[in-house]
Amino acid sequence: MTQRYVIIGNGPAGATAAETIRRLDSAADVEIVGDEGVPFYSRPGLAYLLNGTVPEKLLFSRSDREYASLGVRRTVGRVSRIEPTHHRVVVADGRTLAYDRLLIAVGARALRPDLPGIDLDGVVTLDKLEDARRIIRLARSARQACVVGGGITALELAEGLAARRVETHYLMRGERYWASVLDPRESELVEGRLAEEDIQVHRGVEVRAVIGHRGRVAAVELQDGSILPCELLAVAVGIQPRVELAREAGLETGRGVWTDPMLQTSDPDVFAAGDVAEVLDPVTGRRVCDSLWSSANDQGRAAGASLCGAGTPYQRPAPLNVTRIGGITTTLIGSIGGGGREDDLVSLARGDSGAWRERLDAFAVVADSGADQLRLLLGTDRITGAVVMGDQTLSRPLQHLIRERVDISAVRDRLAEHPGDLGKLVDTLGPGLGAR
Ligand SMILES: Cc1cc2nc3c(=O)[nH]c(=O)nc-3n(C[C@H](O)[C@H](O)[C@H](O)COP(=O)(O)OP(=O)(O)OC[C@H]3O[C@@H](n4cnc5c(N)ncnc54)[C@H](O)[C@@H]3O)c2cc1C
Repeated sequence: MTQRYVIIGNGPAGATAAETIRRLDSAADVEIVGDEGVPFYSRPGLAYLLNGTVPEKLLFSRSDREYASLGVRRTVGRVSRIEPTHHRVVVADGRTLAYDRLLIAVGARALRPDLPGIDLDGVVTLDKLEDARRIIRLARSARQACVVGGGITALELAEGLAARRVETHYLMRGERYWASVLDPRESELVEGRLAEEDIQVHRGVEVRAVIGHRGRVAAVELQDGSILPCELLAVAVGIQPRVELAREAGLETGRGVWTDPMLQTSDPDVFAAGDVAEVLDPVTGRRVCDSLWSSANDQGRAAGASLCGAGTPYQRPAPLNVTRIGGITTTLIGSIGGGGREDDLVSLARGDSGAWRERLDAFAVVADSGADQLRLLLGTDRITGAVVMGDQTLSRPLQHLIRERVDISAVRDRLAEHPGDLGKLVDTLGPGLGAR
């Protein structure tokens, strides 16, 4: 009998799951229902759309024609309810979609701090293409903007606005950028770039209220009573997995939707993947959320196989993000917690992993050569995490060494003394590694 699979959410987790199902079950009926009326696009790419370096059309990386040729139906609609006992989902426009197996891949939404005036017109967050288009529109008439929050998205917002010639103020509650993930030198490198981009960084300040004029943002009031005029306030204080559908359907949820190693939820015919899912971290045995494009793809692939009954336990790899922070190409991988206190985020940021702040039995060594920095977290016999800023020659070898848990005991002492020698040593750790 033809199996009917329904996937809620047309992000990387949903799309990769659909492709996997099709590969494993050529006869299956596969439908993705998503609430964005545009084809599949790169969400991290929104930062480049905002700063004007990439046109919108280049963000669309899977066309509807590709879905059609795979035999995957993409329909637009907002799922308002899951009814597990009837094996169906209800769409806001009244349609119902029956399923044999269901995947929840609805991602996460940006949090808004609870501040007076936070709902004024001109307060923005960045989740979707629609948000980026709106920010670009608002930036045309804004003279001054304020950005609050931490992590990658706050900077992307600040840089995007500055690139659009809006006078941009980045307000930090803490004393340095992304203190719970980066070490002081890494924060300093990023903040140096912000200064070069004419972004005015304010440290140790906190917004008390958003002040409006005729329903629109006119200024922010800081805790010390001072007023900073702005027509735009961009907020990136963290994200919240969209657990409501699952919770209202009676599934077990915590911060995200709880999953077992097969990415199955507490209902055997319902699975979850991507930003919305809480998955087991094999290193600590705890459930964690990731907000990473690569993790959403990995989980989508694993969930797709599980939906078809062909899954194997999801082996969560060390979390990885290769991105740009303050214009500096940066690789973040494994457990890297800088150990600092985080003042600017109330939860996980986008492009962030719950596992980054794990303090494993490891110590940090740093090779700093001005514009570039390499930080390694050394365990007893392996590298447990790394931050590579600037020169990315060692990014690929490190991804391999950390994700494959390569034994480095033979060179550990030398790395502890001279971490910058890693480049000379990679070939002794794995043939061909240096050439990756
Ligand atoms: C500006 C920005 C920058 C980022 N930068 C990075 C980065 O540098 N590196 C990195 O690794 N990651 C980054 N990320 C995070 C990355 O994009 C996410 O981790 C990834 O997109 C998660 O994939 P997903 O499939 O779980 O969910 P999503 O991509 O969020 O897709 C979920 C989809 O489900 C839809 N949906 C929600 N509710 C419903 C409903 N009820 N009915 C129907 N559809 C629904 C949503 O609208 C959305 O289209 C960034 C994200 C943003 C926004």
